[in-house]
Amino acid sequence: AQLINQIAAGEVVERPASVLKELVENSLDAGASRIEVDIEQGGAKLIRVRDNGAGIHPEDLRLALSRHATSKITTLEELERVSSMGFRGEALPSIASVSRLSIASRATGQESGWIVSSDGGDRFADPAPSAHPQGTTVEVRDLFYNTPARRKFMRTEKTEFGHIETQLKRLALSRFDVSFSLSHNRKEVFTLPLADQVMEQERRLAGLLGSGFLEQTIHLDREQAGLALRGWVARPVFSRSQADMQYFYVNGRMVRDKLVTHAVRQAFQDVLFHGRHPAYVLYLDLDPLQVDVNVHPAKHEVRFRDGRMVHGFIYRTLHQVLADTRP
Ligand code: ADP
Ligand code: MG
Repeated sequence: AQLINQIAAGEVVERPASVLKELVENSLDAGASRIEVDIEQGGAKLIRVRDNGAGIHPEDLRLALSRHATSKITTLEELERVSSMGFRGEALPSIASVSRLSIASRATGQESGWIVSSDGGDRFADPAPSAHPQGTTVEVRDLFYNTPARRKFMRTEKTEFGHIETQLKRLALSRFDVSFSLSHNRKEVFTLPLADQVMEQERRLAGLLGSGFLEQTIHLDREQAGLALRGWVARPVFSRSQADMQYFYVNGRMVRDKLVTHAVRQAFQDVLFHGRHPAYVLYLDLDPLQVDVNVHPAKHEVRFRDGRMVHGFIYRTLHQVLADTRP
């Protein structure tokens, strides 16, 4: 089981930022409205995610860590199949197998909290009582300490932290109804309060992308035939080339999709006569039956049932918005 978890970890846990993503997504799944992230040494020493979500019932606490893949994977073929599904339900055991992991949690309605921890996913002590407010704290220490080959692949503290920050930004831009904070080596990096109103959302954008982004962007909010496109695009004068200022979410999940990217670029190209490095934070919402966002979660690919229609909608909407604000 240990080996298989470590193999699985090779897929799920590429670097500290991928651990962070799994943990924060779990917090969001648990309905948290506040998520606090503390990192030490670029995540190599510590990745801690604290949330105020529904928590984990004491009986499920050990299960969350030890639900391993042995019973599921018996052949190589199966392993491949599982890996292509992105190891749903295997994130925590995978992370546990390559780190020192602890989960402290107090579930809704429980009088006290419980903690369970593991060393390389090998042994689990029974859950012990632990003071904890409602919600969950997952601590991942010494990532890859028992897989030296993988530890060697980690980059500098600065690089790994950069990936973590990027990852959390993406998540924070997907959920304005959740507050986020991030610290590195005990120093605050950002704190983002809940943002219901567009103005508050723009404050979050400015905090994450720099105030320059906002000065030059326009807010849009269009709906047509079951498709909605909202968010912010750069005004034509915006010229700073920023590869990291392109955020596109489909039904709340960040994607990097060829069709989407093409539609956006084409609109910029046709209005501005150049489509290089457009800056945008956009949210496309549509009937979940019209899109499969699980094609390859790690690669952020999506598959639209009617790609042509989606492409046309994005293109037309942006073309109009950009043309309207052409100086
Ligand atoms: P998955 O998220 O695919 O179910 P994970 O390995 O990431 O698999 O998590 C295992 C389970 O542990 C989750 O299904 C959930 O029940 C529980 N869990 C993990 N993190 C949290 C959290 N922050 N709050 C509440 N429950 C959690
Ligand atoms: Mg998960």
